[in-house]
Amino acid sequence: MEFFDFHHHDFNREFGIYNLKLNEEPPENFFSAGIHPNAISENIEEHFVWMKEISKLGNCVAIGECGLDGLIEVDGKLQEEVFERQIGLANNLNKPLIIHCVKRFSQLVRFRKKAKVPMVIHGFNKRKSIGEELFKNQFYLSFGKSVLYNVNLQDFLKGFPVDQIFLETDSADFEIKELYQKVSEVKNLSLEDFTLKIKENLKNLQISI
Ligand SMILES: [Zn+2]
Repeated sequence: MEFFDFHHHDFNREFGIYNLKLNEEPPENFFSAGIHPNAISENIEEHFVWMKEISKLGNCVAIGECGLDGLIEVDGKLQEEVFERQIGLANNLNKPLIIHCVKRFSQLVRFRKKAKVPMVIHGFNKRKSIGEELFKNQFYLSFGKSVLYNVNLQDFLKGFPVDQIFLETDSADFEIKELYQKVSEVKNLSLEDFTLKIKENLKNLQISI
């Protein structure tokens, strides 16, 4: 069985979505391209030119990570503008968005309405009330390493619909299989059924594996 890693930073990993760095040559496998709020600089227009080209490729399966970050110096208005432009791009290309969000969940819900494509929040590890709000607004959530030891997060996952879940390693060093095992256990599904479920979820994002 193979376990799809929804968001990772390992160029050589075959089964998952590689988060391409700015101006990097894309891999042969699936990747996502975006402008992280942290990467916003005076070269932003050049970055958009690059991004528009690269995101047309067939193995670019998502736009991102992009989003809003309340803990960095970059101006909030500018972050929103750059995020909104990427939502527009995703709409045009009909590709899903991989979202980075730190302390800006209430603003994020407003942006949900602008997107005609699915939005996946990566690395979700926040409290239940935030998760429920996101669920109400049809976000997908991608969970990472913290599920392995965060009991509250496991508890939240129990009630969260399996058809809105993805799993990822992000930049953490561990086997994604461990996470599949843990979540299938929490969801009371066999590892095989759960893995199939994730495959269907990917199909809903127009990603065929
Ligand atoms: Zn990442």
